[in-house]
Amino acid sequence: MSIEGIEKLGVYDVVVVGAGLAGLMAAIHAAQRGVSVLVVSKSHPVRSHTAAAEGGIAAWIPGASDPRDSWLQHAYDTVKGGDFLVDQHAAEILAREAYPTIMLLERWGVLFTRDEEGRIARRPFGGHRYPRTRFVEDKTGMAIMHVVYEQALRLGIDMLDEVFALDVVVWQGRVYGVVAVDLREARPLYIQAKAVVLAAGGAGMIYKHTTNNYFNTGDGYAMALRAGAALKDMEFIQFHPTALYPTDILITEAARGEGGHLINAKGERFMARYAPQWMELAPRDVVARAIATEILEGRGFEGGYVLLDLTHLGEERIRERLPTVREAARRYAGVDPAKEPIPVRPAQHYMMGGVDVDIDGHSPDVTGLFAAGETACISVHGANRLGSNSLLEAAVFGKRAGLAAASYALGRGSGEPPAEAVREPVERLYSLLRRERSGVELGEARRELREVMWVKVGLFREEKGLAEAVSRLTDLYKRVLDGIVVPSRGRGWYDLALAYETLNMVTVGLVVARAALERRESRGAHYRLDYPKRDDENYLKHSLVRLRGDSLEVGWRKVEVRRWEPGERAY
Ligand SMILES: Cc1cc2nc3c(=O)[nH]c(=O)nc-3n(C[C@H](O)[C@H](O)[C@H](O)COP(=O)(O)OP(=O)(O)OC[C@H]3O[C@@H](n4cnc5c(N)ncnc54)[C@H](O)[C@@H]3O)c2cc1C
Repeated sequence: MSIEGIEKLGVYDVVVVGAGLAGLMAAIHAAQRGVSVLVVSKSHPVRSHTAAAEGGIAAWIPGASDPRDSWLQHAYDTVKGGDFLVDQHAAEILAREAYPTIMLLERWGVLFTRDEEGRIARRPFGGHRYPRTRFVEDKTGMAIMHVVYEQALRLGIDMLDEVFALDVVVWQGRVYGVVAVDLREARPLYIQAKAVVLAAGGAGMIYKHTTNNYFNTGDGYAMALRAGAALKDMEFIQFHPTALYPTDILITEAARGEGGHLINAKGERFMARYAPQWMELAPRDVVARAIATEILEGRGFEGGYVLLDLTHLGEERIRERLPTVREAARRYAGVDPAKEPIPVRPAQHYMMGGVDVDIDGHSPDVTGLFAAGETACISVHGANRLGSNSLLEAAVFGKRAGLAAASYALGRGSGEPPAEAVREPVERLYSLLRRERSGVELGEARRELREVMWVKVGLFREEKGLAEAVSRLTDLYKRVLDGIVVPSRGRGWYDLALAYETLNMVTVGLVVARAALERRESRGAHYRLDYPKRDDENYLKHSLVRLRGDSLEVGWRKVEVRRWEPGERAY
């Protein structure tokens, strides 16, 4: 069957968009409940951004942790690290499920690095009271991705890569599948499904400087928004303190976890001024702002960077624990970290916000729509994510979303949506390109977006700049909808996908800027120069952005406080 040139690929219980850690965990656990599952991904699964994760995955493990540590301490550190914007019940699930998750990954074959006694080793990470980050050298994500992919293959789960999802098919508030384009075969597809899990990763590409890969264009957020779901806490963008200067390749926090020092141009270990107790291992928002302040106030090096000094760790430890850092520094900055310090500066790294979902990954607005991983906001990271909590979230809540999507599908018959619901995204795609040569040029649109986001919606924000960003991005959004000119490099449908990605990027950028404008306080990674204090009276709540017609609407929801009253966040 086909709907006017759109081929129907099949009928599934659950379709998962994205084959990173969250997507594959969802798919594996849904399949184990006996439902039919299809995973579509625009990249090959093991090329998902998860594979770039270096530093590790946080877990309290009985018998292999500091005796003072516990899962509850991990939950508390997460809540405090998130500047009390975290829903505390969700943080408890995250921390409690960490140990069984590590055991499962190990049973599947992840060879976690060991300590001298043969236990799973741990390293300190920013904002974690005790060392509890588990790792495979500094290639943790790659090790996990391969093993999880193997499990998906073993279960015979249908997986299609180089298939680009355009939109979720929704009719009267309920999900009916996904419309996608097969990039190799150059054809639009409709995949009918009872439940859809969005696990399309983050949106680093909306910023000029980012540690993310080119696939991270925020497709999942934009799809959810168009489907009628809300995006939650999108103003909270994590800037990683240490991206390699000038390429923005990530220098993992493990480098500081293993004992690295940050030094300014005056030779000072400047973190003493910003976080006297925790120093380089304060949470990321604190360290990133400290570095940016040093650079802004003229204590950085020419070009805008500071130094990360690992020389005192010695060649052997660097080779053993940080081989990727060593390789990146040597290859891309011409620096041997055993002999010289590494030039670093902050860059966009992670989206704390995402599709508003409950602890089972289900959207309260769209029946049958689930989200997991970086695409979702549950919320466990609040206003600032602690390092090594994201792989954990993708695994723990990917599994929960998969199980919940399967239960949802088991309880329902599959229905056919009207043809117009399927046609709409394909028409949107064609209309983006129809007006050849009259619209905005693709590269230009991306450059403008990334520049505006970096300068006006970056580490330091204020009313005027944010208002300007909203107005410029609103204008850009309109121009993009009017048509994008793709300089054809003869790659046909890849160009179409690039145009659609650009629409998604601009949509997400606009949501971030709008939410940042409306939050008139400073909390975690959201720092307002004009409102430098946290304001619990007015803003201990999540922002919720929805699409109404062509414009965005901002609403709010109270944060769930259970065990821990919001307190001072000193480090
Ligand atoms: C360099 C780097 C290092 C990191 N290190 C760590 C670390 O050490 N510890 C930690 O906890 N976290 C780390 N993080 C964060 C963490 O890796 C990510 O947040 C997490 O892996 C995201 O997993 P995911 O499954 O949500 O998404 P991803 O792994 O990004 O996967 C997204 C998937 O969606 C697919 N996709 C996207 N759009 C579409 C579309 N339109 N159609 C079809 N498919 C689509 C992609 O092809 C991909 O398969 C790091 C991040 C970066 C960038």
